[in-house]
Order: sequence, then C-alpha cells, then structure tokens
Amino acid sequence: MGMPSENAPMEYPDCILCGSSEKKLLFSKFSDKRESFTLVKCRNCGLQFISPRPAEEGMKARYQSTYFTERTDRGYNNYFSDATMKEITRVLELNLRDLMFFEFEHSLPHPRRYLDIGCAAGYSVLFMHQRGWDAYGIDVAADCIRFGKTNLGLNLIEGDFLAAEFPEPFHCITLWATIEHLHRPDLFLRKIHRDLHPGGMLFLSTCRAGGFMYLHGKNWRYYNFPEHLYFFSYRQLKRLLCKTGFIIQSHSFYGSGTGRPGTPLRAIFDRAAKTLHLGDMMIVAAKKS
Ligand SMILES: [Zn+2]
Repeated sequence: MGMPSENAPMEYPDCILCGSSEKKLLFSKFSDKRESFTLVKCRNCGLQFISPRPAEEGMKARYQSTYFTERTDRGYNNYFSDATMKEITRVLELNLRDLMFFEFEHSLPHPRRYLDIGCAAGYSVLFMHQRGWDAYGIDVAADCIRFGKTNLGLNLIEGDFLAAEFPEPFHCITLWATIEHLHRPDLFLRKIHRDLHPGGMLFLSTCRAGGFMYLHGKNWRYYNFPEHLYFFSYRQLKRLLCKTGFIIQSHSFYGSGTGRPGTPLRAIFDRAAKTLHLGDMMIVAAKKS
C-alpha cells in the first residue's frame, strides 16, 4: 500500500461537465500497484470521476508495454496476439454496424480521411485502411505505436492528440474505449470538432455508468483506478457532446460483465443487457453540428 504514483503531482479536478467543485465521496479502491484512489460524484450533475488523481505526466508510465501484455484482470493478456486482433476487429465491426457507420461511409466522396485517437497498435486503423480510407492513428503508448508501424505498416503517430496538428480535416474520428482514460475529455471533444469536416462524424465507445454497473457496485469491471478517470451515464455523455458541438445520431448499450465469459448464463445476461438497454458499455455516433 502506498501513495499514488511516486513523484507525480496530484490534482483535484472540478467537474468537466458543469464546472462545479462540490464533490461527494463515493468509495476508495486500490490500483493494481496497491495505491488507494477515490471515486467522487459531482454534487451538481452526478458525474463520477477519480479525485485526486495523478497529473497527466504521471500516467504515461502506466501505458508501457506491460499494460498490453501482462495484465489479467484489466488491460490485455496479450494485446499483440492474432486472437486479440481478431476479437477486437470483430467487436469493432459489430459496433460500426450498430451505429450505421457503413451507410455514412457510403455517402462520402473519396479520398476519405480517418483518425483513431487512442489507437494502441492500430487495429481500427488497419480495418479502415483495408476499406480504402486514408487512415491514421495516434496514441501515447510508444510500444504499441512501434508495433503498429513496424509490423502492420500503418500511419501511426506517438504523442498527445491535443498538441497534434493535421494538414487536412478528417471525415471520421473514433475514440474506442478511450474517453474514460483522458484527463480532459472536454478539450479532446472540442479539438475533435475542429479537426472534423463539416458534417463529419465521431464514433466512440465507453463504459456506461448505469444498468449492470449497479449490480456490481465497487467491483464493477470498469472501475479500474486510476486508468479509468471518468464514468459517464448516457445522459451525461450526451450533455458533454452537445456542449462541445455534436449531435448524437445513434447509440446503443451492450454488455453485462455478469456470469463467466463463454457460459450460457453470460449469454443470457448479455442478451438481456442489449435488449433491455441495461448494458454497461455504450457506443455513440455523433455528428459535427
Ligand atoms: Zn458536474
């Protein structure tokens, strides 16, 4: 047990959704390094986030290759395996179909420019490249970027999206399971808005505060502190998107995280999550307005 992150300064963020500094303490939980982190809830709008938290510089070391190879209860077992790549691509295609991406894609002229933020090794970038897009990815995880560039031959950038300059706008930008990791989701959405063509689309997925989350409480599968900093309900995410200049076109909830994976019980819970809108994951398609 120790204090969070050796020498990294800690910060006490205000609510990014409503600006309030009034927080209600929900509970504390250990990270995998046995540091204690506290989940708070904005007293004004109800947004859940971690506070205090390590400043951004203190988080980078957490996304070295071990995050993608060694973790078992979170992160990835072996992110770089063929099996993981196949599984990620399968889920990606399902999400895109649910959000009517293919109809959107069909309506676009060529060349089509795509950017994936938080791209890791670039599996989504590869998928879009193979569909004829001019596809790019950006991530702070150096090992992943190196893997994607060397082994998959992709156009990947190592760095911070907020500081990145692009010569031309994009038709489509994605944030797959990324927004919950960001220190400033609001600033990311504003910059995404600037970097999109008029009428361009943002597709994103994130864990959802709601549904099956309530069943698991503190043990919810997405309460991974401090990698996950924000936990949005659908309503809160919608409000943030609206504030930053987006209009939601479609959305869907899925996933139960209940019952052992691969068992009939899990399949029943997953089906219930999807049909009854109880899923603890959400996907959203939002148009630049
Ligand atoms: Zn708030």
